[in-house]
Amino acid sequence: MKTLVWVEHDGGTVKDTTLATVTAAAKLGEVHLIVVGQGVDGVAQAAAEIAGVGKVHVADDAAYANALAENVAPLIAELMGHHDAFLAPSTTTGKNIAPRVAALIDVMQISDILSVEGPDSFTRPIYAGNAIATVKTSDTKLVLTVRTTAFEKAAAEGGSGTIEAIPTTGDAAKSRFVGAEKAENARPELTSAKVIVSGGRALGSEEQFHALIDPLADKLGAAVGASRAAVDAGYAPNDYQVGQTGKIVAPEVYVAVGISGAIQHLAGMKDSKVIVAINKDEDAPIFQVADIGLVGDLFTVVPELTDKV
Ligand SMILES: Cc1cc2nc3c(=O)[nH]c(=O)nc-3n(C[C@H](O)[C@H](O)[C@H](O)COP(=O)(O)OP(=O)(O)OC[C@H]3O[C@@H](n4cnc5c(N)ncnc54)[C@H](O)[C@@H]3O)c2cc1C
Repeated sequence: MKTLVWVEHDGGTVKDTTLATVTAAAKLGEVHLIVVGQGVDGVAQAAAEIAGVGKVHVADDAAYANALAENVAPLIAELMGHHDAFLAPSTTTGKNIAPRVAALIDVMQISDILSVEGPDSFTRPIYAGNAIATVKTSDTKLVLTVRTTAFEKAAAEGGSGTIEAIPTTGDAAKSRFVGAEKAENARPELTSAKVIVSGGRALGSEEQFHALIDPLADKLGAAVGASRAAVDAGYAPNDYQVGQTGKIVAPEVYVAVGISGAIQHLAGMKDSKVIVAINKDEDAPIFQVADIGLVGDLFTVVPELTDKV
């Protein structure tokens, strides 16, 4: 089977989400990549070095500068004439592109796959991850989005893919890029961080959130996350949210501070390797998934812990 993986990048480097998606694609067959953007020679070079990659298709055009899904999807749909499966990571942009490709080639998308069970069957989470469904498709072409935390990352080096420029499909004139406000953050990115410290509603205010969570995260070299309650209360920005309607993470260590462990929060972090929970209520559901639990008042425990790290 010939697969095509959309390369997620920031204009200069290939994102880790791509590496995990390549691993998923390799379980199906030959891996080809598609790099879309403007001025993406460097990205194409880096993509060609990913272990196991065959061909790297490159579409370089001003129309692709901001990865507008309305422009990217027709290009990929065109390439699907020569490929059997299209895979994109289940990230904001991946989830924007893949369904459009599925619609254009008239197949059903299988979302958020956790494993490849065979050439036409996959597992995926349902009911916010409380059950895992095995789905089998009879479509002749596959469109899949990949839960990247469920797959190991392919090695970023060691490959020798061939780079091939392809004709672009240009501007579909259905959408227009207005602007992007990017949050400046010196900390690791939430979805690729090895350690995450997350704060919940119990922090009580934005000031206290930062006064307690940030120093601990700094000492641990961790990314900062938050529960939806903390985000909704304005203690932390939206892009910190972990959970069903936030980011899905699976770091080596996840520290949940003053987070109750609602099912929707667990859906985003329960695959973390080691979960540490700090909560004053010993019956809080977070302790059911925690490997290490600390029952206590976070306003005492967290500064003590930060001092000792
Ligand atoms: C459709 C839908 C989608 C959702 N998506 C998400 C999502 O993506 N992410 C998400 O997080 N939530 C999500 N939610 C919300 C979720 O149901 C919970 O409301 C939310 O996770 C609760 O956040 P919390 O644990 O910070 O707050 P709470 O549930 O209020 O828990 C606070 C915890 O702090 C503890 N505590 C209080 N004071 C202290 C103290 N001084 N020291 C130590 N511990 C203390 C309490 O014992 C309690 O366990 C979603 C809900 C719905 C309906």
